[in-house]
Amino acid sequence: MIKEVVLATGNKGKVKEFSNLLEGVFGEIISLSDLGSPPEVIEDGLTFRDNALKKAREIAQYSGKLTLADDSGLEVDALNGQPGVYSARYSGEGATDKTNIDKVLAKLGNNPNRKARFVCVLALVDPNGEELVVEGFCEGVILSKPRGEGGFGYDPVFYLPDKRKTMAELEPELKNTISHRANALKKLKTELERKGSFKKSYN
Ligand code: IMP
Repeated sequence: MIKEVVLATGNKGKVKEFSNLLEGVFGEIISLSDLGSPPEVIEDGLTFRDNALKKAREIAQYSGKLTLADDSGLEVDALNGQPGVYSARYSGEGATDKTNIDKVLAKLGNNPNRKARFVCVLALVDPNGEELVVEGFCEGVILSKPRGEGGFGYDPVFYLPDKRKTMAELEPELKNTISHRANALKKLKTELERKGSFKKSYN
């Protein structure tokens, strides 16, 4: 087991979700709020990978500890992968989940190609420069109207054909096992077991 990791997020929900899925991989998970006044990392990358690596590198340098960062969002095929890295602020200044969803629905109009996926990129960086990046996906289709009260972001319009539910209609426990984040975390676990090199420096 790797002794400790810093999770480069201030989001308590994420810390909890990551802690559950990473049980047995890291002895202790330290969150950003435990680090004093960490630098605010500007997410100005053009890809999820760029943003995740930037966050992990800056926090690893600041903390001197192994650091895990994520970046995620929605890619809609008929919109050439938009909203992508702009998912949180797709509808501009003052964007809310509702205005972001409205923009996706307006841009899609009656387009029959509704294919979309949630993407999560995780970057694990140690302050000496060793890096590992993995990606997780969750495939679905965009409905023409929101459905369901749970989740956040684009969940009410993201429909999972094999579950016959939107992400916002799924029980949170189930979402946490099939989501893009869950899939990325599973890959991270597998890669760390296969690689072993981070273990050498942190055991
Ligand atoms: P973050 O990288 O986790 O901060 O996510 C960026 C944006 O992507 C969020 O503000 C949401 O709009 C969208 N997003 C990421 N994950 C999800 C999800 O699980 N459900 C719905 N929207 C998501």
